[in-house]
Amino acid sequence: MHEHVLVDIVGANGIAPGRYDGGVVRSVVLPHLKQLRSQGCRTFVDCSPAYLGRDPELLVRLSQASGLNILTNTGFYGAAGGKYIPEFAFSATAEDLAARWAGEFKAGIPPTGIRPAFIKLGVDPGPLSRINSKLVSAAALTHLRTGMVIASHTGDGVAAMAQLNLLKSHGVSPAAFIWVHAQDEKDRSFHRKAVETGAWIEFDGISSETVDQNVGLIQEAKRAGYLRRVLISQDAVGYHVGEERGGYCPGYTFMFSEFLPQLRKSGVDENETRILTVENPRRALTPGN
Ligand SMILES: [Zn+2]
Repeated sequence: MHEHVLVDIVGANGIAPGRYDGGVVRSVVLPHLKQLRSQGCRTFVDCSPAYLGRDPELLVRLSQASGLNILTNTGFYGAAGGKYIPEFAFSATAEDLAARWAGEFKAGIPPTGIRPAFIKLGVDPGPLSRINSKLVSAAALTHLRTGMVIASHTGDGVAAMAQLNLLKSHGVSPAAFIWVHAQDEKDRSFHRKAVETGAWIEFDGISSETVDQNVGLIQEAKRAGYLRRVLISQDAVGYHVGEERGGYCPGYTFMFSEFLPQLRKSGVDENETRILTVENPRRALTPGN
């Protein structure tokens, strides 16, 4: 539900074409994607937003070469103090931004014609800053026109609830909101509050170091009866722009080869595993269905 082919953290002011060689990126990332496909995974949700490494043409080529469906997104990432927000967005209205994002949904991301499958946002810990509130309002307007789900990198539980309230004021169903990085909020009562509204909570960053933490979170969700509102991911990055051959890539298969077997050992059965990895992503990506 949340991985990255490529990330460029230079910031919105430094983003420019030609900062990396697409051929090199493909040669680094394709073997990892093929491995993922060989483990039975069909769909890869690429969460790199515009101004942070979104490259639809690269994704298409990797999709064709790997056999994976790869989904890209529209929206802006407003966390990290606004470093990844383009200058024009500060003076634009929420309506201006929604027109742009809904335009990408309708006509494709210029100049590629490739359409986004979801809205990706990022907000810092709450309360929401003015610019972050504007991004959330723009996402609400975009959702109402397109039906796309809103996946938001969210600083903490306060910011999660603030976003849900703001979306509600626009008439957006909480089921169209994914609280990305919910695992970072240590006060679990926020998880329960969010799922009670009908929102999705996403536990990202599954790796060898976080197996126990993530098994614990999923066990908690199972005990409390909200497994059907939980999404999971590795949040792995295939290629870091600016690093030698993209730097370290953990690959995308840990989830399937290591984590899910551990999860089953902890008592999460085959059907519940399927809910987490197949049914929930499908329902989350098609809100209203
Ligand atoms: Zn991420």
